[in-house]
Amino acid sequence: MRKTLQFFLFDWLRAETLSARPRFADHTRETFESVLDTCERIASEKFAPFNRRVDVDEPRMVDGSVVLPECAYETARAYVESGMLAAAQDYDLGGMQLPATVELAGNAFFSKAGIGLGGGTLLTVGNANLLMTHGTQMQREVFARNEFAGRWFGTMCLSEPQAGSSLSDILTRALPDGRDFESEPLGPRYRLYGNKMWITNGDHEITENIVHLVLAKIQEPDGRLPAGARGVSLFIVPKKLVNTEGELTGERNDVALAGLNHKLGYRGFPNTLLNFGEGKYLVGGSAGAIGYLVGKPGHGLQCMFHMMNEARINVGAGAVAIGMAGFEASLEYARNRSQGRKPGPAGKDPAAPPVRIIEHADVRRMLLAQKAYAEGGLALVLYCAKLVDDKATSDPEEAREAAALLEILTPIAKSWPSEWCLEANSLAIQVHGGYGYTRDYPVEQLWRDNRLNMIHEGTHGIQALDLLGRKVRMDGGAALVVLAGRIAGTVDRASSVPQFATRARELADAMSAVRNAVDEAWKAADPELALANATPFMQAFGHTVIAWLWLDAGLAAHAAMESDGSSIGKDHLSGKLHCVNYFFDYELPKTSGWLRPVATRSAACFAMQDESFTP
Ligand SMILES: Cc1cc2nc3c(=O)[nH]c(=O)nc-3n(C[C@H](O)[C@H](O)[C@H](O)COP(=O)(O)OP(=O)(O)OC[C@H]3O[C@@H](n4cnc5c(N)ncnc54)[C@H](O)[C@@H]3O)c2cc1C
Repeated sequence: MRKTLQFFLFDWLRAETLSARPRFADHTRETFESVLDTCERIASEKFAPFNRRVDVDEPRMVDGSVVLPECAYETARAYVESGMLAAAQDYDLGGMQLPATVELAGNAFFSKAGIGLGGGTLLTVGNANLLMTHGTQMQREVFARNEFAGRWFGTMCLSEPQAGSSLSDILTRALPDGRDFESEPLGPRYRLYGNKMWITNGDHEITENIVHLVLAKIQEPDGRLPAGARGVSLFIVPKKLVNTEGELTGERNDVALAGLNHKLGYRGFPNTLLNFGEGKYLVGGSAGAIGYLVGKPGHGLQCMFHMMNEARINVGAGAVAIGMAGFEASLEYARNRSQGRKPGPAGKDPAAPPVRIIEHADVRRMLLAQKAYAEGGLALVLYCAKLVDDKATSDPEEAREAAALLEILTPIAKSWPSEWCLEANSLAIQVHGGYGYTRDYPVEQLWRDNRLNMIHEGTHGIQALDLLGRKVRMDGGAALVVLAGRIAGTVDRASSVPQFATRARELADAMSAVRNAVDEAWKAADPELALANATPFMQAFGHTVIAWLWLDAGLAAHAAMESDGSSIGKDHLSGKLHCVNYFFDYELPKTSGWLRPVATRSAACFAMQDESFTP
C-alpha cells in the first residue's frame, strides 16, 4: 500500500505542491513521507499483532462497565502518542497543520492493520472538529482541546432504537436546567432524557472522560416535542462533569450504560445502548443528564452534518483499507499456494509439477478486481481529502469548486468503497478457497469488519436517495456540471494519448449516460418513482467516477513511465495501467445495466407491493 499511496499522493495528486499554501508552508514532501513512515511503523508494530485478539475477545459488560482486552488500551495510547489525533490542527492546538490529504493517507495504515483498534480515534477527531466549527470559544477550549490531546475521547449520539435513518423522529428530549441556564459558561445548560442506540465507544475506561455529542429535541412549553428535522438540537453531554478549566468536578453525569451490542465485526470498539437522564447518577440530587447546547436551538442536524460528512469520507477510507488488507493477504496466498496445471495446446501434463494459483488467469482476475476496487477507492478518498484541503486553503474560485465537488462526491466516497471493497474481501476469501472460509486465515474477519460500512453513517439506500434526490439536482445541477467539467478535462487529455483514446470515448459516453439518466428519472416529476431506482443510479454514478479517477491516474502513471521520473518503479506503474484496462473492460460496462431502469423509470420494484411478496 505504501507505494500506491506514494504514487497517488505525489505522482498523481502532486500533494507536495500544497506546501505552496501558507497553512502548509512548513511542510515538504519529506515531512509528508515521514508522517507516512511513522504511521506505517506504529500500525505494523502496535496494531497488526492485535487485530485478531480484539475480534475473539470482544467487549464485555461487567458490573455496569465495559471491559476490553489490554491491547485495546495499548493501541489507543499508541495512536495518541503518534500525534495523529491533532495532526491537521493549528500549531497552537498542538497540531502540525498537516493537510487532510496526508492525514487520511497516514490513517489508512492504522485502519488496514486493525480497523477495530485504536479506541475509535477518528470519531474523537470528528467530534472535536465539529466543536471547532460550531462550538463557542469555551467549548473549544474545554472539550475540543482535551479531545485533540487524547485526554478525553468523543462519540456521536444520533441513533435511537426507533430512529436510525430518520433522525427527525428522535425522542430524546431536552429541558432548560434552571433559570440562569443562558449564562452557564460551558453553554446554555439543559437536562436530557432519552435512549441512544448503537453508540460506538459510548462507554469505556480508555480515557478519563467521554464527550458525547447528542441530538435531542427541546421540549415545547406544552410538553410536546417539535416535529421534523428543524426541531433537532445538538448538545455536549460529558460522561463526567467538568469545570471551565477542563478539570473533572468529581460528579458523574446522568449517562448510564444500558447494554452492549454484539457485532459481526469491528469488535475492538464497544457498541453501546446509553440511557440519558434515567436517574442512575443523580446530578445535584435530580435525574437528567446535563447537556450544553452547541450552536442554535433547532440547528442540531446542520451542525451534525459537519461531523457526518467528514465521517462519511472516513468510512470510505476505512472500507478501502480493509479491502487493501484482503488484497494483500490473498496476493501473498496466491503466490504461495500450488494447485493444478495450466491448460496447454496439447492439454494438461499430469506429470508436470502443480503451478502456483496466481498463474491461473481466473485467480489473477480476482486479484486484479480487488486491486482495482481497493486502489480505485483509495484514489477516490484521497481525491476527496484533497478537495477538503482545497476548500479550506485554496483561492476562492477553486474553494467554491471544491465545495461543490465535495457535495456530490461525499455520498460516493462513503458508498462506493463500502460496496466494492466488501466485494473485494469476498474475492479475497474466494482466492483462499476453503481456507478462506476458516478462522485460521485473516480474510473472513476482514469481510465481517467491512460489512458494517454499507450500514452506518447513512445506509447505502440513504446515500443513494441523497445523491439522486438532492445532490445531482441542487442549484440547478451545478455540482454535476462542475464534476462533468473535470471529467471532460481528463477525457481531453486522454484523447491525445493513443493508448487511452478509446478509454476517453468510453468515459465520455458513460458520463453522458449518467446525465441523461438524471433527466429521464425526473421527467415524470414523480419523486417516489424516480427514487425507487436511486441505488442502481448510485452504483452507475460511482463506477463512472472511479473510471474517471483510474483514467486520470493512468495518465499520471503513463507520464511517469515515459519520463522514468518516478521513484516507485515500472512494474508498479504498469500495475496501475492494468487496473485502468480492467476497470474499463470489466466494470464500466456494468453502468449501462444499472442506468437502464433509472432512465426508463422502471416500476419493477416500485410496483411490487407488500402482499405480493408472500412466499
Ligand atoms: C456497528 C454500528 C456502529 C454504529 N455507530 C453509531 C454511532 O456511533 N452513533 C450513532 O448515532 N449511530 C451509530 N450507528 C447507527 C447507524 O448509523 C444506523 O444503524 C443506521 O443509520 C441505520 O439505522 P437503523 O439501523 O435504524 O436502520 P433503519 O433506518 O431502520 O433502516 C433499515 C433499512 O431500511 C432502509 N430505509 C430506511 N429508511 C428508508 C427510506 N426513507 N427510504 C429507503 N430506504 C430506507 C435502510 O436503507 C435500511 O436498509 C451504528 C450502527 C452500527 C451497526
